[in-house]
Amino acid sequence: MEPLKVDHVFEKEKETEDGEDKMSKRLDRDTKDSGMQTMLTHYGDETFLGAVVPPVFMNTLFAFDTYEDFQKSQWEEEAFYYSRVSNPTQIIAEKKLAALEKGEAARLFASGMAAISSTLLHVLRQGDHVVCGYPIYNGTYQMLQNYLGKFGITADFVDFRKLDLVREAIKPNTKMIYCEGLSTFFMDVFDIPAVVQMAKEHGLITVMDNTCATPATLRPIEWGIDVVIHSASKYLCGHSDVTAGVVISSKKFIDGISQAEGVLIGGTLAPLEAWLLTRGLKTFGIRMKQHAESARRLAAMLNSHPQVMRVNLPLLEKHEQFELASRQFSDITGLFSFELHGGAAAVARMMNKLQLFQIGVSWGGFESLVYSPGLGIPPDQQSRTEHETRLERTIRISVGLEDVNDLAEDLFSALNDL
Ligand SMILES: *Cc1c(COP(=O)(O)O)cnc(C)c1O
Repeated sequence: MEPLKVDHVFEKEKETEDGEDKMSKRLDRDTKDSGMQTMLTHYGDETFLGAVVPPVFMNTLFAFDTYEDFQKSQWEEEAFYYSRVSNPTQIIAEKKLAALEKGEAARLFASGMAAISSTLLHVLRQGDHVVCGYPIYNGTYQMLQNYLGKFGITADFVDFRKLDLVREAIKPNTKMIYCEGLSTFFMDVFDIPAVVQMAKEHGLITVMDNTCATPATLRPIEWGIDVVIHSASKYLCGHSDVTAGVVISSKKFIDGISQAEGVLIGGTLAPLEAWLLTRGLKTFGIRMKQHAESARRLAAMLNSHPQVMRVNLPLLEKHEQFELASRQFSDITGLFSFELHGGAAAVARMMNKLQLFQIGVSWGGFESLVYSPGLGIPPDQQSRTEHETRLERTIRISVGLEDVNDLAEDLFSALNDL
């Protein structure tokens, strides 16, 4: 009996066309360099039977009719045989993400941390040293400070606002400069071109976690950064329903990390999550505009409130880094923080009074959230350093997509009640 081939159903249709494949057609037209929303709507997509939404390829493997066809799949680009290695649904999101960051290629990972750890393991060898910005995402800090030590890799953490400290931290065995364009809690920024220049002088690879700023406000590759990483669990997906990460860089770098850490450590992204990420990306540009517009209004109101000691948002004119920030960032996002005169007690009272703003660690979704970095300090700890006192009086706010009038009322009724 002839083996059943699902392909046969479509093969007939294909044959009726003048050599045109009706089953699958690229829609990537020429939208790669179009405006951001146009690119996100069309670029990289494929259509099947005219469906406006590409299907999700849930399959773990791809089967072949002949020995030779399988053999070809091993050596051809964009040939598929096993979904840990590559899958068409991943590729659609990867194309959009690379175009978004103006990079040559992108590789999806199962989380932001999988993207970060794979990048560190890809670049670093025994005996290498990293100069890392501080503050930095805690997972990254733990990885560099504790985990990679077992491979003989060391790191120094410095405040990148002080360029002299960065220069002094570079050693003969330094291999990498690792940074975030905007720090998550205090939104500090640093002089990116100055650090890139320093890296060039010493032949170091530069890696930037651009999760906070997002490509809607900062494109590190255009500033000369070599490798960009994101937790796509935040604004890129934007719906608080996908955990994902991505690395964007040159084609050579992405090919290398895909074949080594992607395949061998295996922390690549599952197809359904890649599909959800693509869906989230379709509205990324307009979501970011709304997050920014609402955040601008709330930040300005907080800035003039008597209970508020300071608003941490460098694109506010009053901020000491305003000039540097406005040179590097085209806009704000929905993420910033503010500090209360009343310290930890006022923070707790305010967070408990809020109705629309929920208390939660992540950010970048449709829903408004608050979090205090002071929550990480053990409640029974006797004394506080100056830095810990600052952490405790800080509320980080992720402004969601609710109506801004409702958010303002919620925030200010809690604040006026302190
Ligand atoms: C959330 C986050 C990460 C980690 O991403 P996951 O998707 O949670 O693994 C890394 N860096 C920054 C700046 C983040 O905010």
